[in-house]
Amino acid sequence: PVRTRFAPSPTGYLHLGSLRTALYNYLLARSTGGSFLLRLEDTDQKRLVPDAEERIYRDLHWLGLDHDEGPVVGGEFGPYRQSERGAIYEKYIQILLEKGLAYRCYCSKERLDGLRESARLLKPPTTVSYDRHCSSNEPEIGSQHTHNSDFTVRFKSPAKYPKFTDLLHGRLDLQPQINAGDVRYDDFVLMKSDGLPTYHFANVVDDHLMGITHVIRGEEWLPSTPKHLALYDAFGWEAPHFVHIPLLTSSKDKKLSKRSGDIDVAKLRAQGYVRESLINFSALYGWSPKRTPNEQTKEVYSLSQLEQLFSLDGLTKGNAKVDFGKLNHFNKHYLELKLKDPQFVEETVKQIAERTSTSLEEAHRILKLTGSYLTKLEDLFQEHDYLFGSISTSLSQEQIEIVQAFLKKYPEENLENAMEIVSSSYSRQKVFKAIRMGLSGKTHGIKLPSLFEYFGPKEVADRLRLACK
Ligand code: GLU
Repeated sequence: PVRTRFAPSPTGYLHLGSLRTALYNYLLARSTGGSFLLRLEDTDQKRLVPDAEERIYRDLHWLGLDHDEGPVVGGEFGPYRQSERGAIYEKYIQILLEKGLAYRCYCSKERLDGLRESARLLKPPTTVSYDRHCSSNEPEIGSQHTHNSDFTVRFKSPAKYPKFTDLLHGRLDLQPQINAGDVRYDDFVLMKSDGLPTYHFANVVDDHLMGITHVIRGEEWLPSTPKHLALYDAFGWEAPHFVHIPLLTSSKDKKLSKRSGDIDVAKLRAQGYVRESLINFSALYGWSPKRTPNEQTKEVYSLSQLEQLFSLDGLTKGNAKVDFGKLNHFNKHYLELKLKDPQFVEETVKQIAERTSTSLEEAHRILKLTGSYLTKLEDLFQEHDYLFGSISTSLSQEQIEIVQAFLKKYPEENLENAMEIVSSSYSRQKVFKAIRMGLSGKTHGIKLPSLFEYFGPKEVADRLRLACK
C-alpha cells in the first residue's frame, strides 16, 4: 500500500508552496487507499520557530488535510518528531561506520573553511570541497556520539552517484560538479557535532523505517536526491519513488519563499480566503485531471472529488506562477456557496461584529447586503468601510448640484421617481454616480436600491446632505 508523508521543518509556517506539497501527498494516499504521515523535521535547532509546529497542525487541520500518523496522533512507526529519534540515528550511524561507508571527521572549522574557500576559487568553482583527510580514521565501534563531540560523521560518497527515475522528470543523472583529476569529495556530513543528524541522513533513515513508498516534494530537493539514493544503496535498502514538483513562483517569476508573507496560509485565511478555494487553487497548480475528449473543461473540484480523481500522471512540469486573479475567482465562487450555509454565516457575522463593534443583528444585515459582492471577507472592511460609520467624500461641483436637486425630491418621492425627475436635467448615469459617491464615497459597488433599502430614507438623506457640505 502507498505510504506518503509531509515532512515540514518547523522553521516557518505553511504557505501556498508547502500546502501544495502536503496536498499532493495527501491526495496520492487517499486516492489509492494508502496512508498519509506527518513527520516533523526539527533537527535544525537554530532555525526553529517556536509556534511553527502548532501552526502547521492547525493550518493543515483547517484545510481538511488530516493525517493518519504523526507526532500528536501517533502511529506504529513513531516517534514522528526527528528530535525524538536520536537513538535510532545513532544505531544507523554505527552501521555505516562498521561497513566503512562513513567515517569520523575531526577537522577544525578553520581547516574546513579553508578547503571551502579554495574550492570556491576553482574554475569552475565547486561546492564539493572535502579532501578526505579523516577518511582513514578507524571507526571507534560502540563509542557514542554525544552532544558537543569534537567530530562529525561523514558519508564516504561513491565515485559516481546513481542515476534515477523521477516520476515527473524521467531518467536523471545528476552529479555534483567535480573537476577531472581533482582530489575533492562530496563526503557530506551525516551527523553534526551536536549529535543531531543532518537533513539528508535523517530523511533517508526515516523514509525507510516509516515505509514511505512515494516522496512528493519541491524541485529544490532534486539535487539532494542522488545523495539520498547513495545512502539507500549504502544500507542496501530499496528507495521510494520520487516526484519533484515545480516550484511556485510569484507573478514576477521570483521563487516563492517561506518568507513571502503574502502566501502564508494563516494570513490568507485571516483575509477571508476559504479552505475550499485554497485547496482547489493549489490542486490545479501543477496537476490536472484526465478528461475524456468531449468532456467540458471543468475547474471546480472539492477535496473529496480530488481524493477520487488524483493520479500522478496528471502532474505537469514547469514552474507554476501564482495568479492571485485566479485565486480570487475561486474564492468568490466558494464564498457565494458558503454564504448559503447558516453555520458559516453565523461565524462570519460574529467575526464582523467583533471587528467593527456593531451588533450581531447589524453585522447580519451588512453581510446580507454585501455578501454577493465580496471576493473575500477582508474586502468588506476595505471596500465597504462606509457601512461602519460616516465617511468623508469629496463631490465635484456638478455632483453637489445633482445631489441637491435629488434631495429636493427625496424622500418625499421614492428613489425611482426622484431619480427620474433629476434625470431630466442630468444624464441618468451621472445622477447614479453622484448619489453613490455621496452615500459611499465609491464610484461603484452595491446596487443603489439595495443601498437605499439598507440605510433607510432618513440616513440616506443625512448622508447626502453631509456629502454636500
Ligand atoms: N524538511 C524538508 C522540508 O522542509 C523536507 C524535504 C523532503 O520532503 O524531503 O521541505
